[in-house]
Amino acid sequence: MSRSTPNCGACCRRSRISPRTSATARCALGTLGGSLANNDPAACYPAASMGLDATIVTQRRRISSSDFFVGMYETALEPDELIVAVEFPVPERAAYEKFRNPASHFALVGVFVAKFASGVRVAVTGANLNDDMHASAEYRAHLIPVLAARAVARANS
Ligand SMILES: Cc1cc2nc3c(=O)[nH]c(=O)nc-3n(C[C@H](O)[C@H](O)[C@H](O)COP(=O)(O)OP(=O)(O)OC[C@H]3O[C@@H](n4cnc5c(N)ncnc54)[C@H](O)[C@@H]3O)c2cc1C
Repeated sequence: MSRSTPNCGACCRRSRISPRTSATARCALGTLGGSLANNDPAACYPAASMGLDATIVTQRRRISSSDFFVGMYETALEPDELIVAVEFPVPERAAYEKFRNPASHFALVGVFVAKFASGVRVAVTGANLNDDMHASAEYRAHLIPVLAARAVARANS
């Protein structure tokens, strides 16, 4: 698998899925496969994969993103299974909006929207709605419709 991150992909660039430039090393070295396999509940790339209905390809099978993400930090990968490619259908329009943790620039909440000829897909990250030192569950819940509206507006702009 290429070491290039999804912010190199035209689709992801258009939808601004890549985190801003806060962590140059991460942008240079972190991989799409690593992010998907890690399935951090606040990560951006799993949301993009779900929003775009990506197919995760391993050395022995193809897994729909709807089946791939099982739970927080948990995926359908077997212990010895490696992601070798990820296939993204190209949407007519797509946008990603996230509310950044000001320190790490990780998403507190992010919303990915994609319009295909067959319909619209919406994926939310950071929606585990925990109360923690970064935000209350109520505040996270409040962010979901705000970010969804922004993402739809930008996808249509
Ligand atoms: C300061 C900071 C800010 C960050 N901000 C964001 C953010 O805003 N948005 C965001 O989405 N992420 C963010 N991240 C997380 C970052 O994107 C991930 O750490 C990175 O994508 C993980 O990729 P990696 O290639 O380094 O994986 P690794 O850390 O090397 O691996 C992660 C896990 O996946 C497994 N793995 C790796 N590659 C594969 C493969 N091909 N097949 C199967 N299993 C594999 C590894 O064994 C490991 O268990 C941030 C991280 C930091 C440190």
